[in-house]
Amino acid sequence: MIKNPVFIVFLTLAMAVMITAIVNKQEKSVDSLPFSSSRVEPRDLLHSTTAETSVQASVVQSPTVQAVDAVSKEIHIEHNSCFYDALVKESIAPQTVLQIARVSKEKFDLGALAPGTRLVLGWSQQKLESMRVLISGIKELHVEAKDGNWEASLIEHEVKIELTAFFGEITDTLWNSAVSAGMSFDLISDLSDIFASQVDFTRELNVGDQWAILIEKEMVGEQQVGYRNILAAEISKHGETLPAYRFEVDGRERYFDAEGQSNRGKFLKSPLRYNKITSRFQKARFHPILKTRRPHQGVDLSASTGTPVRAVGDGSIVEAGRNGGSGIMVKIRHDHRYMTAYKHLSKVASGLRSGSKIEQGQIIGYVGQTGLATGPHLHFEFYEDGRYVDPMGKRFPRRDSVDPRHRMRFQSEVKHLQELMEEFRKKGRVL
Ligand SMILES: [Zn+2]
Repeated sequence: MIKNPVFIVFLTLAMAVMITAIVNKQEKSVDSLPFSSSRVEPRDLLHSTTAETSVQASVVQSPTVQAVDAVSKEIHIEHNSCFYDALVKESIAPQTVLQIARVSKEKFDLGALAPGTRLVLGWSQQKLESMRVLISGIKELHVEAKDGNWEASLIEHEVKIELTAFFGEITDTLWNSAVSAGMSFDLISDLSDIFASQVDFTRELNVGDQWAILIEKEMVGEQQVGYRNILAAEISKHGETLPAYRFEVDGRERYFDAEGQSNRGKFLKSPLRYNKITSRFQKARFHPILKTRRPHQGVDLSASTGTPVRAVGDGSIVEAGRNGGSGIMVKIRHDHRYMTAYKHLSKVASGLRSGSKIEQGQIIGYVGQTGLATGPHLHFEFYEDGRYVDPMGKRFPRRDSVDPRHRMRFQSEVKHLQELMEEFRKKGRVL
């Protein structure tokens, strides 16, 4: 039947590839057995960070308990998986898993574990003896087998707050400089939120601009488990340094400059929050889709479909829905002078319609490419007295300032924060 020799060669090759694939698969399944031979010092497990958790198949075996055949293994809850699946995958009997979940229920609902949560399982003579669930850096659930019964206890570590600082200078993007200074993604977005009314993070920062933050970190023993509040921050834009100091008034925390003016203005500079995705589209990569085809009013902000779009100021919606070449859009009136429009959305946020009241920062829709758009982007229009203006170079009125009643306290706190920042700077924590 098969006469073409080339085809036969192809067939043979295809079979060889298939066999290799099967062999590889078998090797993999051997690797993932709970008792693999690779070993990691127990110390590594205790100090493991998110980066280290990717070596989840490693086995930790303490030399002192090796004699009684004790072994422990760290696993984590995978995406689209759950506690039950994760344990059954480790060859633990379903009834044991259900029993553990039942005795733990009062302390912690194991059914609600988030993907990525780490679990340390301990076996003794081939039998599961203990489990530690690292719920957060602060909380752990311990489940142990005692005389044939399982017992659960919740352990909460004492958290101490220490201060730390990050500094950097922009060499390509703020995002990259902050990541290389050791900042987490969430922390960078939090930093951008403080200055959201003063800086358009994707368009207004340049090479050479500097930034700094002073922040509280949460410590359990010698290990850092998270961050708490940003106490002070600085960012320079075209040589001008913008400071922000956290100050509490009547139980509410806000950021003010050294003169006591709020960092939050009447408008946000950008309807898109600065994060890993939006940071990729810095000014140099700007992508004006329709610029050559017709007079272009507005700013095209490249972003992937589904990116949340925020209202830049308080107001009420005057239009929400489909409108010809604009596609799905939202138009907001902020007051008698200002209006904004957000176009080519994939959808409007649920429940919003013409007449809805909107607060600054509220998500009003999601980036898309509806209407006259050749790729996903947000077309953003900002109107002042009916004329289009680019909000990029604008300075907007501040929302409020420190009440004179709190001036004295504010000034002494600012002085203290400035001194702390200076101390860290002297220590040479510039990376
Ligand atoms: Zn446009």
